[in-house]
Amino acid sequence: MSPATQTKAAARAKTATRWTCDHCGVSLSKVGGERVPLPESWTSSAEGTFCLLCRRERAAQAALESAPSDCPIETRAKLRRAALIEFEVRRRPDHGDGIIAKACRSSVFAVAAARKRLNLPAPTRR
Ligand SMILES: [Zn+2]
Repeated sequence: MSPATQTKAAARAKTATRWTCDHCGVSLSKVGGERVPLPESWTSSAEGTFCLLCRRERAAQAALESAPSDCPIETRAKLRRAALIEFEVRRRPDHGDGIIAKACRSSVFAVAAARKRLNLPAPTRR
């Protein structure tokens, strides 16, 4: 197997004996040291490995960093909420607006608006 093929194979089947979030340090492993696949809600890239909570937090932080530093606190709170909703809509575009709204403790209206901003089609399930 060439090194390139090996890299591809590793990317397809991401498994490890232990997954540790680089941000909060939470870790996941199986008793007995069996290899486990990367949890569906986690991400592992060149930037690091992150659990779902930290992925959300990073999405919110990224939105705040792009905002002017002198913007009012209400605007920052709004940006943060919008970023969290956009993150969830992107992550699970096939989930109904109501389900995503619940997950983000937001409104169906706000989720539908985020979906529109991202140019994502309405879900088939409600
Ligand atoms: Zn984490």
